[in-house]
Amino acid sequence: MIRLSAITPSGQVHLGNYLGALRTWAREGTDEDVYFISDLHAMTSSHNPQRLRSLTREQFAVLIASGIAPESTCVQSDLIRELGALNWVLECTCTYGEAARMIQFKEKSLGRDSVRLSLLTYPVLMAADILLQGTAEVPVGEDQLQHVELARALARRFNHAYGEAFIVPTAVVPKVGARIKDLSDPTRKMDKSAQNSTGVVFVLDDPDLVRRKVRRAVSSTEGIANLTEILVSCTGKDPEDYTSRFADLKNVVAEAVIEELRPVRDRTLELLADPAELDRVRQAGAERARERAQHRLNAALRLSGLS
Ligand code: ATP
Ligand code: MG
Repeated sequence: MIRLSAITPSGQVHLGNYLGALRTWAREGTDEDVYFISDLHAMTSSHNPQRLRSLTREQFAVLIASGIAPESTCVQSDLIRELGALNWVLECTCTYGEAARMIQFKEKSLGRDSVRLSLLTYPVLMAADILLQGTAEVPVGEDQLQHVELARALARRFNHAYGEAFIVPTAVVPKVGARIKDLSDPTRKMDKSAQNSTGVVFVLDDPDLVRRKVRRAVSSTEGIANLTEILVSCTGKDPEDYTSRFADLKNVVAEAVIEELRPVRDRTLELLADPAELDRVRQAGAERARERAQHRLNAALRLSGLS
C-alpha cells in the first residue's frame, strides 16, 4: 500500500517539520511510500528561482539525512513531464466551480488583487501527484482534507467516464502528533514561511543559534507548554517539573533539541558537500517514481482519446 506525503520548499526545514513529519516518515514509512519535495507547489505565489533551486536541494538533502528510504524519495519537478501531462487530463476532468470552492484558495487569495492562476489550480496538480503514483493513502492535516477529497472525486469521475485508470485514494488524518509552536509567539505554529524567524528553530541552525533561540522563548503558559512538548518529543520521556525553574527548562530543551537534530544536521551538511552523491540519489528516486508512473499515465492518456 502506497502512502504519499510532501514538504514544500517555501523555506528551510524547521524543528516542527522534523518532529511532526520527516521523523515519522523515516520511522513509519515503507520503501513503497513516496516522500517528495513539492517544488512546483512553491511556485503558486511569487518566488525567486535561485532560492527555489537551493531550498529544493537543501530540503531533499534533509529528507535523505532524516533516514527516509532513498528509494521512496523524489523531487516533484523531476517528474514535471509526467505530472504536466496528467495535470492537463485532470484539469479537463475538474470543473471551475470545484477549484474555486477550495477553502485554501479563498483564504490565500483573500484581499489580493492579483494571484497566480496556479494558486487556483494547484489542487489539481496535487491530485496528479497522488494519482500518478497509485497512492492508496494520503496522510494530511485537516487543512488539506478538501484537496484529497478533490483527488478522490477526480479519480472516480475519470474511472467512471473513460475506464479504470486510477486507484481512488483515501485521506488519513494522523492522530494529533506534536504541533510545535513558534518560540516567540506560541499562539502560532512554527512555520517555514514565517516573517520573523527568531522563534523558528531550523534543522540546520548551529548549536549556538539553537541555544540563543530557545533562551529567548517567551515564558507564557503556552510557551512553557510548547517547550515541554518539544522536550517530550525529542527525548521520548516525561519531563520533570520545571515550572519554577524556567531557565533550567530552557537549558534542558536547548540541549535535547541540539542532540536530536545533530545527526540530521551533520548528515545533511555531508550530503550538501558531495553534490555528485546527492544528484545520484535524487536521480535514482526520480527514475523509480517515473517507472511507477508510466503505465498509469499511458492508460489515462489512451482512455482520454490521446496518443
Ligand atoms: P508553510 O509555511 O510553507 O506552509 P510549513 O512549515 O507549514 O510551511 P509544510 O510544507 O506545509 O510546512 O508541511 C510539511 C509537513 O510538516 C506537513 O506534514 C506538516 O503537517 C508538518 N508541519 C508543519 N509545521 C509543523 C509544526 N509546527 N509542527 C508539527 N508538524 C508540522
Ligand atoms: Mg503549511
